[in-house]
Amino acid sequence: MSGFNRKFNPDWYVDYKTWLEYSVAKDALYCLPCYLFRSSVGKKGGGEAFISQGVKCWNRKKALDDHVGGPNSSHNVAARKGEDLLKQSQSISSVLIRQSDKAKSEYRTRLQASITTTKVLLRQGVSFRGHDESEFSENRGNFLEFLEVIANENPDVRSVVLENAPKNHQLTSPKIQKDIVRAIASLTTKEIIKDLGDAFFCILVDESRDVSTKEQMAVAIRYVDKKCCIIERFLGISHVTDTKATTLKKEIESMLGLHGLSLSRIKG
Ligand SMILES: [Zn+2]
Repeated sequence: MSGFNRKFNPDWYVDYKTWLEYSVAKDALYCLPCYLFRSSVGKKGGGEAFISQGVKCWNRKKALDDHVGGPNSSHNVAARKGEDLLKQSQSISSVLIRQSDKAKSEYRTRLQASITTTKVLLRQGVSFRGHDESEFSENRGNFLEFLEVIANENPDVRSVVLENAPKNHQLTSPKIQKDIVRAIASLTTKEIIKDLGDAFFCILVDESRDVSTKEQMAVAIRYVDKKCCIIERFLGISHVTDTKATTLKKEIESMLGLHGLSLSRIKG
């Protein structure tokens, strides 16, 4: 250039560190924000050259200042957009994560309230559902009424349950109630089996028809625990097709097997 050998001056990286890019392969300069937000880049300041063919202004540092331009130049508009993009707290994904953290914590509070309600009702052996569970019912059944009591005692719970919960995420439907009951039943049985340990046990089996004339078989186990107390625990109930001894034996075996117990450990 003008009789001199010229090349890219790496010091420019320091002066224009927020945007300058140098391509070794093409031996030319480019502008990163203008490239990313090319829709807002105008012709002024060689904007087009900085994103397409590259600029070789080795003898003219001023070309870089010209490209930057004033506060509202197209380069600075693009640079501000680039800054916004890099700000983590403003990025879409981090806003989504923030939102989902809040939703997660609300979900936990709501679920805990439903679990507490279920625990109390199970312990007391009372029904869950009401005859009329509509919003204007005088008595919406034990589950919803007890949940209401918990909510009234705790503003944090109140703010995320019942009428304040999303309509599609109430955690109070019969299906959810049964899910929680099943989880609690599984944990309870686990505790019973743990308490039983390696001891021998007896089984108490009773079979009868329910109102829908289905044959039902209830199984309880009876054992002596580590404190030498006689313990009787209900293990489960299952429907059986008939009351033949072989059918019942098969069903008992499968129920015990479900909890890792075998018939050989039955005493007497
Ligand atoms: Zn630029």
